[in-house]
Amino acid sequence: MRAYAMLGPDKTGWIEKDYPECGPLDAICRPIALASCTSDVHTVWENALGPRVDLTLGHEGVGEIVEVGELVRDFKVGDKVLVAAITPDWGSVAAQGGYAQHSGGMLGGWKYSNIKDGMFAEFFHVNEADANLALVPEGMDLGVAAMLSDMLPTGFHGAEMANVQFGDSVCVVGIGPVGLMAVRGAYLRGAGRIMAVGTRPNCVDVAQQYGATDIISYKEGPIFDQVMDMTGGEGVDKVIIAGGDVDTFEEAVNMVKPGGIVSNINYLGSGDYIKIPREGWGVGMGHKTVVGGLMPGGRRRLEKLAAMILNSRVDPSLLITHRREGLDALEEILFLMRDKPADLIKPVTIIEW
Ligand code: NDP
Ligand code: ZN
Repeated sequence: MRAYAMLGPDKTGWIEKDYPECGPLDAICRPIALASCTSDVHTVWENALGPRVDLTLGHEGVGEIVEVGELVRDFKVGDKVLVAAITPDWGSVAAQGGYAQHSGGMLGGWKYSNIKDGMFAEFFHVNEADANLALVPEGMDLGVAAMLSDMLPTGFHGAEMANVQFGDSVCVVGIGPVGLMAVRGAYLRGAGRIMAVGTRPNCVDVAQQYGATDIISYKEGPIFDQVMDMTGGEGVDKVIIAGGDVDTFEEAVNMVKPGGIVSNINYLGSGDYIKIPREGWGVGMGHKTVVGGLMPGGRRRLEKLAAMILNSRVDPSLLITHRREGLDALEEILFLMRDKPADLIKPVTIIEW
């Protein structure tokens, strides 16, 4: 079968791969919608995971089941399914501890385009189908359904880890598709003021539609200074980081109030350490929590988040700026994500077989 893969550092292309093997609990799907991700870009062009050779890319998509293992109970051939980017081993001790995304070791639930072949192929494998898939709700647009793999669950996880409360002031640093979902997540959890940091006009517009009350450009001076000016020197209750780099933590810790939380969902593709400022962190006694996490996966979560779309709590269609057709568009949507033209938020390709 054909697969679009990372051939080595900085190199991608089409290769031939074997049809995946379906274990008793597993399913094999054909992709019917696929999206590229900034994480694919970190993997290929920033060496973020280390060298990978002939690893099929892609972890965001919707599938149609073509094969199920003999122990799969709830899905059958022909079902159209939501697939989470993170597909944990649900019987693991890590899952029993509430952190399924780290089953098999830290970040071990992140299998696609990391420790196994991803979805950018004619067929892809799903482990533990009953636990890691959910049916695509009747009538849901396939591009929107693809946003349930990673964008919506990751952005919302940023708001969850920040433990956003009614009336909280929240600064969301970075409003690409992930940060935009964090803006919406913070809004839905009852944030009062939401300051969104970014510059691309499309993203700024969608941030406002999702509930941002203020926009900050990181290009017009330090974010910290701007947040302090806007809050009369108080800072914010919560910061969600969905853009920037290892240095962004310095500003985030400085601008969060004592007792506040800095919640990171950004994939730190380079640098050895993040910067936590000694004074800004209350010389070690400021009760400022710094937390970072990989999105949780799982069928229950997919179904719950899909219900939020169905009931118009969140509209991920606003993220999709570029729609293409067919498997052959994969290279284009990956390069769009790398080059980030000014009008891009998220590209998808819809595949008819
Ligand atoms: P984008 O590149 O589309 O967006 C990045 C945002 O950060 C943009 O708004 C950009 O502004 C802004 N930005 C860039 N530089 C700075 C800076 N120096 N200071 C502040 N803001 C800055 O990324 P995505 O939304 O696609 O992804 C965001 C991150 O989330 C990525 O690192 C991705 O890998 C990661 N991720 C994490 C997952 C998880 O499970 N934790 C899952 C999926 C993705 P501008 O408007 O100027 O472009
Ligand atoms: Zn992704």
